[in-house]
Amino acid sequence: MPKFIIIGGGVIGLNTAYQLARTEAGETPAIPGGKRPAKVVLLEKGQVGDGSSSRAGGIITGLLWTEAGVLARRTSLRLYRELSADLEQYGYRFQDVGCLNLFDSSLWPEREALLPLYDRLDFSYEILDAGQMRRRWPDLAPEADHIGLYDALGGYSEPHEFVPALARRCRDLGVEIRENARVNGLQIENGRATGVRTDMGTVAGDVVICTVHAWTRALMAQCGLRLPIKSFVHQRYITSELPARVAIPAINANPQGGYIRPARLGSGDFRLLAGGETEERSEQPVDDLAFHMSALSAPDSVRARLSANLTPLIPKLAGSRWETEQVGLISFSLDGEPILGSLPQLPGLVVGAAFHSGGFAYSPVAGLLLAQLAAGEEPSVDVSAFSPERFSVADTDAYLSTTVTQAHAFRRRH
Ligand SMILES: Cc1cc2nc3c(=O)[nH]c(=O)nc-3n(C[C@H](O)[C@H](O)[C@H](O)COP(=O)(O)OP(=O)(O)OC[C@H]3O[C@@H](n4cnc5c(N)ncnc54)[C@H](O)[C@@H]3O)c2cc1C
Repeated sequence: MPKFIIIGGGVIGLNTAYQLARTEAGETPAIPGGKRPAKVVLLEKGQVGDGSSSRAGGIITGLLWTEAGVLARRTSLRLYRELSADLEQYGYRFQDVGCLNLFDSSLWPEREALLPLYDRLDFSYEILDAGQMRRRWPDLAPEADHIGLYDALGGYSEPHEFVPALARRCRDLGVEIRENARVNGLQIENGRATGVRTDMGTVAGDVVICTVHAWTRALMAQCGLRLPIKSFVHQRYITSELPARVAIPAINANPQGGYIRPARLGSGDFRLLAGGETEERSEQPVDDLAFHMSALSAPDSVRARLSANLTPLIPKLAGSRWETEQVGLISFSLDGEPILGSLPQLPGLVVGAAFHSGGFAYSPVAGLLLAQLAAGEEPSVDVSAFSPERFSVADTDAYLSTTVTQAHAFRRRH
């Protein structure tokens, strides 16, 4: 088995390490009385979860807008359930509360046009009117013209449970996770990536897998590669403790310009988590490899807007305050779809990036596909639509030479 180097310790990198290490654990017999030599090395410039992964809402639905997206998410939903069983002893459980994608009469036609796609792919959904939603979830008060597209397989993961649990499981599977190990560039020999450069020296490997999210452009620029990716500040909040459980699914509340789901910080508390975009805000350039997301902040107005928009939908929000705030980045490619695959210009390198505001949801399948590509296998889901090769040099250069606000970037939710 070749040696794999993963750059980035977010959910995409950790899931990739997990998939590679599980394969290795199955294939490579342990040395009697000793540990296997690490064949999967993950390098993280800070601490595991330092980027967007620990800041995410963790919501997942399979009801996306392209065939590749729906097929990939179907695998993610299956893998989340498998992970839930495998990581239970590490303190993680997938919250299978379903995901309600909410629309008003102006937003619905665009989504309604996707129903034949879901039917063709045999992906189940339910269409609910306001009365049906109120009856099923008495804590919900959608407006009369609201339409719910319910994905019973959807739900959410608590990032503060998932990220550490997955990191511990990876370590137990033999992955060498090196924190405070920033990669400064790739080592390239005879036109092939053969390792990475760090402050502590070069780490050689057979395949390098780059999962550095908003830092992708900056890191790829070190070896002359350009990908059309832009990042935007994104924020989410958790309420103060609520007197009782609010029985709702995870909700992509499109008419309200946000999303909301049940949450907890301790083991027995009842809270809600909500977030939303800041449409008027310009893209956030990340040109420095040393950039850290703790440098970001969100305008105070976001809290007031979320309360004003979401309380009519969930009246039990009234009287609570937003107790915690997490600010991170979401990244979009030129066409809004993820970038996942090998780069023909540089054999030995595989990239996974630009998962819009759905990277947490994509992470199990992205990890599986990146692991398969790195191992030279055929990907188990056809994600040629996510290939880095789909962008021309001219389109990439034109995209990167503009500055856009979030409202003018491709907009995609979980
Ligand atoms: C507020 C908010 C809410 C969100 N809500 C959701 C949601 O509900 N559902 C959903 O699916 N998605 C959501 N997302 C999106 C999701 O968080 C991201 O798409 C996902 O976490 C990306 O994972 P990642 O592993 O690619 O990136 P990250 O978690 O950012 O990991 C990248 C890692 O690479 C490291 N790194 C960078 N450069 C280097 C280097 N040179 N050397 C070594 N390491 C390096 C970084 O320190 C970082 O830890 C949300 C995002 C935000 C900000």
